[in-house]
Amino acid sequence: MDSEFQFELGVCQWAEQFWPPERRRTKPVIVARQLGTKRRRWDTLVIECNAEGLRQRANFGTKRLDSNLLHVVRNAPASYEWYRDALPEPSYPWRYVRDAVHQAADRGLIKRRRGHGGRIELKRKWTYPEWVERIVAIENKPDLDASAARDLATQLERDIALSLADEVWVATATTDDSVEPVLLTERPQEAGIMTIDSGIRGKDSAAVVWHPSTLDVSAPGTRILEQPTGGKYDASACRFEYVSPAWKATKRLEIAERAYERGWRSYLSSMRPDCRYFELRPEPDVPRPYCSAKACYQTARECAGSCAAFEPEPPMWRQHGWPITGGPGNGIKRLLSEQRERQRPK
Ligand code: SF4
Repeated sequence: MDSEFQFELGVCQWAEQFWPPERRRTKPVIVARQLGTKRRRWDTLVIECNAEGLRQRANFGTKRLDSNLLHVVRNAPASYEWYRDALPEPSYPWRYVRDAVHQAADRGLIKRRRGHGGRIELKRKWTYPEWVERIVAIENKPDLDASAARDLATQLERDIALSLADEVWVATATTDDSVEPVLLTERPQEAGIMTIDSGIRGKDSAAVVWHPSTLDVSAPGTRILEQPTGGKYDASACRFEYVSPAWKATKRLEIAERAYERGWRSYLSSMRPDCRYFELRPEPDVPRPYCSAKACYQTARECAGSCAAFEPEPPMWRQHGWPITGGPGNGIKRLLSEQRERQRPK
């Protein structure tokens, strides 16, 4: 494959169709890319869902619920109550809760009315379901030399110490050679390794080299802030802090909500499909961005406002006669959005 970005799209597409590796799928999955926390963003995330919970989640629409909305929706009572009586004391001012109540009502997520003395009252329309069962984080590294594998090992140690995801994997490209030995020896044993074929023809395109351990997401996590390099003269101490199980549970749900909204095809939002050279090439399997000016599968970083070769799509493409309403830029966006809707498990 031409780049890490292309590899990443391939991994996402494989996961959407075939996750989990070497086992039969028993539950729906949602795949997203480039999601995580403020400090850590994973290349690919697989959210394994409870089928019934996921069906009920659809009641709340396709847009994500952020932490404020989740606070309201998850605690909304069965019958009308003043929001300050109904909702748990927040760790931030009540006025933000009130704003979230209005926002939730405006989005049709709860019912709201003015009660006695003009107080804002709310009640739920639906119970917010337990729809997230497991979160799997995958780091995509198609080409891994010894030094990159060492850097990655440090990153994986942090992921495992925090245990925000149930499983942590490294996906690397299938080659004639075996997996980079440093990856096998220096990475924490809890992290899994899989190889993925660039062709992505079927479930067998991915092979497990090392099975991961299931991490304890309900236990307190350790956030490593600073890690000694371990060199001969490095006497520095490791700095870390604990994170509570409650923080992890909230963060996991927020991540899952973002994955639910975005999926993995949202990469167009950071690229230039309105450029006349932008194409989506379906081969070999997943539509991938292709730049006809540079004759390559471009990365999201290249295909940005700063690209010197950018040329706007001709106005004619936006008018009558063009087979895709609104021009190819809009047509491509619509195509990916439709694909996302089709693939969103119900
Ligand atoms: S020319 Fe630049 S902006 Fe246009 S498609 Fe190619 S990389 Fe993207």
